[in-house]
Amino acid sequence: MAEIKVENLSHRYGTGTPFEKTAIEEINLTIPQGQFVGIIGHTGSGKSTLMQHLNALLQPTEGTIYHDGEDINKSKESRRDIKTKVGLVFQYPEYQLFEETVYKDIAFGPMNMGLKGDDIDQRVKEAAAFTAVDCYLDRSPLELSGGQKRRVAIAGVIAMRPEVLILDEPTAGLDPRGCKEILGNIIRYHEMSGATIIIVSHNMDDVAKLADRIIVLSKGKVAMDGKPDEIFNEPARLREIGLDIPKTTELAMLLDLKGSIYTHDQLLQAILALKEGKKC
Ligand code: ADP
Repeated sequence: MAEIKVENLSHRYGTGTPFEKTAIEEINLTIPQGQFVGIIGHTGSGKSTLMQHLNALLQPTEGTIYHDGEDINKSKESRRDIKTKVGLVFQYPEYQLFEETVYKDIAFGPMNMGLKGDDIDQRVKEAAAFTAVDCYLDRSPLELSGGQKRRVAIAGVIAMRPEVLILDEPTAGLDPRGCKEILGNIIRYHEMSGATIIIVSHNMDDVAKLADRIIVLSKGKVAMDGKPDEIFNEPARLREIGLDIPKTTELAMLLDLKGSIYTHDQLLQAILALKEGKKC
């Protein structure tokens, strides 16, 4: 079971220079295998810094990250291995496509893992099917739309079959259809693989809909951590941190509906109950 444990993690950029900056401070988290986690917080709250520690792209200034009980920074080999187990999809990953075909781009990760021939082929086709880019395998990524390119970039990470898939703002800059497709791909990967998914997003509605657990970062620290209904039951606290609340929660508050409401379905049920005179 791929449990991630973050213990007393702090990171400072530019240590010992006039630009020294503490980006995250004393973070403690345990994320069990298969959880769907949403990380939210203002720009500059430390989300990217935290994510980059989970696959050893950044090393802690203080603290330790364990994957399955092993310190991921124990050695050069463990730092290399963790990059295939914990796949990180950066913001605007489509800018990192560089091969002449979609196939080669998706094959890059499995090749780097040392896989060969049929194994690579199987991984590429499986990942392309997950993200519905299997009909573009021979095309140049340059010929594709923004949403299609992003799906190719995500397929490149999925092709490594990561136990943990981290996506930094996966829907940023996409139109509603593109957003829906990307989120659909991620949900499918979660359901089929049982992988842990960690999504960094400023879109409260997306996070509310998808995540089992929400972690709110503020000024480099964990400000809130709980199930969506626990988090959205505290709209005043979220506003204090300077974050939006889901539109459904906002509407429920305007209608004075009780309980934690953060999805369209919950809102609909509460309005129907209200209509029937059973204010809930
Ligand atoms: P977020 O992803 O929530 O926007 P970041 O992790 O990018 O937050 O940044 C956290 C803090 O660390 C911010 O104050 C940011 O300016 C600072 N920071 C991020 N990257 C660097 C860097 N490479 N060098 C110096 N400071 C940085």
